[in-house]
Amino acid sequence: MDFSIPDATQALLDRFRAFIDEEMKPLEEQTVGKSFSEVLPLLEEKRSKTKELGLWLPQIPKQFGGVGLGFMEYALACEQLARSPYGNFVFNAQAPDAGNMEILMEFGTDEQKERWLQPLLDGRIRSCFSMTEPNRPGSNPVWMETTATLDGDEYVINGHKWFTSAADGAAFAVVMVVTDPEAPPHKRASQIIVPTDNPGFNLIRNISCMGHAGEGWGSHSEIRYENCRVPAKNLLGEEGAGFAIAQSRLGPGRIHHCMRWIGISERCFEMMCQRAATRELSPEEPLASRQTVQNWIAECRAEIDAARLMVLHAGWKVDKVGAKHARVEISSIKFFVAEVMMKVIDRAIQVHGALGITDDTVLATYYRHERAARIYDGPDEVHRNVVARQVLKGYGYTPKAR
Ligand SMILES: Cc1cc2nc3c(=O)[nH]c(=O)nc-3n(C[C@H](O)[C@H](O)[C@H](O)COP(=O)(O)OP(=O)(O)OC[C@H]3O[C@@H](n4cnc5c(N)ncnc54)[C@H](O)[C@@H]3O)c2cc1C
Repeated sequence: MDFSIPDATQALLDRFRAFIDEEMKPLEEQTVGKSFSEVLPLLEEKRSKTKELGLWLPQIPKQFGGVGLGFMEYALACEQLARSPYGNFVFNAQAPDAGNMEILMEFGTDEQKERWLQPLLDGRIRSCFSMTEPNRPGSNPVWMETTATLDGDEYVINGHKWFTSAADGAAFAVVMVVTDPEAPPHKRASQIIVPTDNPGFNLIRNISCMGHAGEGWGSHSEIRYENCRVPAKNLLGEEGAGFAIAQSRLGPGRIHHCMRWIGISERCFEMMCQRAATRELSPEEPLASRQTVQNWIAECRAEIDAARLMVLHAGWKVDKVGAKHARVEISSIKFFVAEVMMKVIDRAIQVHGALGITDDTVLATYYRHERAARIYDGPDEVHRNVVARQVLKGYGYTPKAR
C-alpha cells in the first residue's frame, strides 16, 4: 500500500480545493438557508466556471467529456468537493445524477444515451432514482410492490414510491419495478426510464424533512405511478437485472460517499477549531483553553484520520479485488464514517453555541441533511449485520439464509 499521491493528482486536488475555498465558501452568505430556485442562478454561474477550468464532470471518463479521474483519484476529489454543500453540484458530480450517468454509460442503449445521458452530462437536465416505497422496507430491496407489466410494446407501471430525491424539476426518473414476481428474489426487478412529463408520473409532494420540504434538487418526493405507460425500449439493461444494476451503482459508490463525509467532517472540524481559538469566554481566555474543547478537538482529529484511512484502504481493496470481495470493508466504512461525521458536526455546533444552530453558518445545513447518512445507502444496522456475519463465518458460525 502506498500513501503517496502522484503529483499530477495532487495538483488537481489542489485546484478542486481552491475552487471551493475561493468560489464556493464566499457564496455561503447568499446560499445557506435559501431555497434551491433562489440559489440556482448563482450555481449556474459557478458551473460555467468549472467547465471553463476543465474541472466539469471529474468522475466521468474523457470520452464522455469528463476529467477522467480514476476510481481512487475521484475518491480523493470527493473529500474536497464536499467542503461546500453545493460542491458536487457545481462540478456536475451530484447524487442522484452521477449514479444515473454511471448506469446509463454502462447499461444504456445508444438511443437512451443520446436522449438522457448527453443532456445530463451537459448539465441541461436533472434526474432522479425512484426505488424506495413507503409500504415496504427500503432495507430489503428485493421486496417491492411497484410493478411494470408489458402491454404490447409498452410497460404499464403502477406503484407508490417515496424519498425519490431531486424528483422535483427532474426530466426523468429511473424507476425500480417488479417485472417478474415469480422469479428468484434478486431477478424480480428491473429499472425503467420514466420521463417526468408522463401523465402517469404523479409527484404528490416534496416530503418535509427536519422542518424543510425543500424544492428542486434539494428535495425528496413522494410519487405515485398510476397506469404510467412508457415504451418497452425505456428498459435499462435486461429485464430482471434491476437489482444487479443497483448493486453495481452502490458498492464502489460508497467509497465516494464516505470520502464526501470525510470532507464534510474536515470542513466542520476547521470551523470548530477556528471558533475555539477566537471565541473569548473572558478577555484573553478563548474557548480553546478549556480541556473539554481540547478533548473534542483531539478526538475528532484522530477519528477523522482513522476514518479516512479506513476508506482509502477499502477503496484500495475494491481496486485490487473488486467490490464483491471487499464487502466487510465497504460495510464497515458505511456505518463508521457516518457516525464520525455526525459526531464532528454535533461537536462543531456545540462549540459555536447558539450560532451553531442558526443558518448564519453552514453547520445547521450539514446537521439537517447529513443525519440521513445513517439511513440511506443501507441503514447502519444492515451494514453492521453484514460485517458481523462475514466475521463470524470465520469462526464456524454459518448464518441462516433469510
Ligand atoms: C435523505 C434521503 C434520501 C434518499 N434518497 C433516495 C432516493 O433518491 N431514491 C430512493 O429510492 N430512496 C432514497 N432514500 C431511501 C433510502 O434508501 C431508505 O430510507 C433506506 O433504504 C432505508 O429504508 P426505509 O426508510 O424503508 O427503512 P426500513 O427498511 O423500514 O428500516 C428502518 C430501520 O430499521 C432498522 N433495520 C432495518 N433493517 C435491519 C436489519 N437487517 N437489522 C437491524 N436493523 C434493521 C434500521 O435501524 C433502519 O433505519 C433516501 C432516504 C433518505 C433519508
